[in-house]
Amino acid sequence: MDEFGLIARHFAPIAAAEPGALGLSDDAAVLDLNPGARLVCTKDALVAGVHFLEGDPPADIARKLMRVNLSDLAAMGARPRAVLLAAVLPRSTTDEWLGQFAQGLAEDARTFGAPLVGGDTVATDGPLVLTLTALGEAEGAGVLTRSGAQDGDDIYVSGTIGDGVLGLRTLTGLLSGLSAAAHDHFTARYRVPEPRLGLGLKLIGLATACIDVSDGLIADLGHICENSKVSARITAASVPISSPARAALASDPGLFAALLSGGDDYELLFTATPCARDAVATAANEAGVAVARIGAITGAGAGVEIIDAEALGIDLKTAGFKHFKD
Ligand code: ADP
Ligand code: MG
Repeated sequence: MDEFGLIARHFAPIAAAEPGALGLSDDAAVLDLNPGARLVCTKDALVAGVHFLEGDPPADIARKLMRVNLSDLAAMGARPRAVLLAAVLPRSTTDEWLGQFAQGLAEDARTFGAPLVGGDTVATDGPLVLTLTALGEAEGAGVLTRSGAQDGDDIYVSGTIGDGVLGLRTLTGLLSGLSAAAHDHFTARYRVPEPRLGLGLKLIGLATACIDVSDGLIADLGHICENSKVSARITAASVPISSPARAALASDPGLFAALLSGGDDYELLFTATPCARDAVATAANEAGVAVARIGAITGAGAGVEIIDAEALGIDLKTAGFKHFKD
């Protein structure tokens, strides 16, 4: 199949929901924006062998590609509008693989209201590379940034932390002896993360700073600290951990450091003033996602401190943490 047949067969159906995509048959898409809205743009690339594993199910690769980008929109408090895909495909890519990939992409495009409106398709002798550009809309002036955290603010995180890195360890054979349920839980969270779009929208006007946890809780809290020129102090024991992760920790307490420093969680990490506690709880309720208060912003500097690290047997040196004080 040639490039145009490939686009018409696999990608044009995903564009059908958006008339502005012009059926992927023109030079570019033309999108209407809500009056007064601002465009929020982001792009993430996934490379075979780096960001996903060669044998991963193609539909899951598509959904991860979609979701890591939508997670960035969530962290800005934006609503998805459309996505563009650059597919750099090894010549050996089969039509069956593409069909499954497109199916996963179509499913998430529907779920999140993010139609595919354009892109590029090329063949390569190198590895499979997939990049997605996500376009979102922010209403009026309201966006969430990393730079507004202030002394005394509470620090919160959504969902649970650490399942992503445990999923990667499971898939690469570094974590074994798991129950079937734990195995499935970790790998699902690694392969198909949940962008917290509903929560992000509800945090507009409430959160003083926000980031999605892609590099790891400690590193990403460090990014808020750097951008906001503040320090942070968290209690490791208050970081929300899933029950399968708790079970894994029970048999290997040394894993705690990996949970706090591993990436791929795609939860929202944010700050808000203590006056906003009730409003944050309401926002979390309405968004249908749990939110835990894990610490506080502690004034100037740019460091992340973990109060009970030693008591919990977290070896910060082997965890490779860079942003903390003793
Ligand atoms: P051009 O040569 O004008 O850049 P292309 O032939 O590369 O256009 O693409 C034709 C149309 O198909 C364009 O609208 C483009 O956005 C779309 N397209 C190409 N590849 C993809 C893809 N992987 N996903 C979605 N749309 C694509
Ligand atoms: Mg053209």
